[in-house]
Amino acid sequence: MKKFYINTYGCQMNVHESEKLAGILYERGYIRADSNEEADIILLNTCCIRETAETRVLGNLGIIKKIKEKRPHVMVCICGCMPQKPGTAEMLKKRCPFIDIIIGTHNMYKLGEYLDEAQHKKVVEIWDKEREPENAPIHRDGKFSAWVNIMYGCDNFCSYCIVPYVRGRERSRDFDEIVAEVGSLVKNGYKEITLLGQNVNSYKGGAPEFGNLLRALSQFDGEYWIKFMTSHPKDLTEDVVKAMASSDKIAKFIHLPVQSGSDRILKLMNRKYTSGEYLDKIKMIRDHLPDAGISSDIMVGFPTETEEDYLCSEDLVKKVKYNNLFTFIYSRRSGTVADKMDGQIDLKTKTDRIERLIKLQFDIGNELARSYIGNTYRILCERVENGIGYGKSSCDKSISFEASEENAGKFLNVKITEVKNNKLKGELI
Ligand code: SF4
Repeated sequence: MKKFYINTYGCQMNVHESEKLAGILYERGYIRADSNEEADIILLNTCCIRETAETRVLGNLGIIKKIKEKRPHVMVCICGCMPQKPGTAEMLKKRCPFIDIIIGTHNMYKLGEYLDEAQHKKVVEIWDKEREPENAPIHRDGKFSAWVNIMYGCDNFCSYCIVPYVRGRERSRDFDEIVAEVGSLVKNGYKEITLLGQNVNSYKGGAPEFGNLLRALSQFDGEYWIKFMTSHPKDLTEDVVKAMASSDKIAKFIHLPVQSGSDRILKLMNRKYTSGEYLDKIKMIRDHLPDAGISSDIMVGFPTETEEDYLCSEDLVKKVKYNNLFTFIYSRRSGTVADKMDGQIDLKTKTDRIERLIKLQFDIGNELARSYIGNTYRILCERVENGIGYGKSSCDKSISFEASEENAGKFLNVKITEVKNNKLKGELI
């Protein structure tokens, strides 16, 4: 039996897209290999949103070239958003002539046909517009957790981001189709379903707004959670937060990337909100959902960012007290507006700022974590390893506790007993 191996780079969206690629390959009779070295088909599902992911792809291609030299029958396929960046497919063709198939995000569902075609010739096909059907088979990796795309692309054009150029304009999936998919996942025992989109709050698939989709998805029998990501602060409405508050089946957690606390930098980033408007949204969330978990992304070293601008980000982090914060150093992406801006910041300054921000968040996280000792949370146990269970609460608190194998995939009540290195430990009650 022929085997495939998928190398996935980038975000959750790509991880889910790899499940769709696996679905196509299983349907054609292939099985999964444990490594590139064992595979007859090697796929690289790429991401060009961050430079590091792109660099890793190019590094791995060097290793794959050697595999192909030893085993020439191996089919190598590059897909995902990296080949959709202008000039990249051409560069890959020249630099890595051993690649058999180069395709983009919009036509990945045709992988099976391209594999047939590639028996006779190299296939390079990049579509600039999506024409994909939603009924592509999916081979899900998780037994209890599943991802469901509700929309694709983005219309926001943040000045540092390549997504709208490579993933296209916003397209929402049909409301009924999503409801049917989630209903079938719940029926099949999935306990945590995460709705995916670059900007889920601007979902427009037949429902007046995203809140109505959440309400419809919370109507199924059984215990399960609906989560979603990512939310653009400008599009998060009170109706969505009210929908979250209306049912225990919608997790009380929101990832709301702010990116900077400086209004001047937010304007240069084209984020379309001020720090004050962002803080109003945080207040609105906490008014309806006092115990909600809130996380965010912050970027340091955006072009022209001064020490004063950076300190505005620190100030905002102190005000919000995020449960979790993902910090990034700005890196140039060719083809974006920010790449052409004057005032690029040197690496030493960027590194110094990110280290200070990480330290600040560590201290805030530690203080918050200590305040949870003695509280009991309902958690979904995601896995059990060596007698330790790992789970998350509805408000996204990660907790470990002594557990047995049969606890995996179950909802359990866990009391927090200890905090070590900002990590919550608890006991089953
Ligand atoms: S909202 Fe901004 S950062 Fe997010 S995908 Fe769209 S353009 Fe990129």
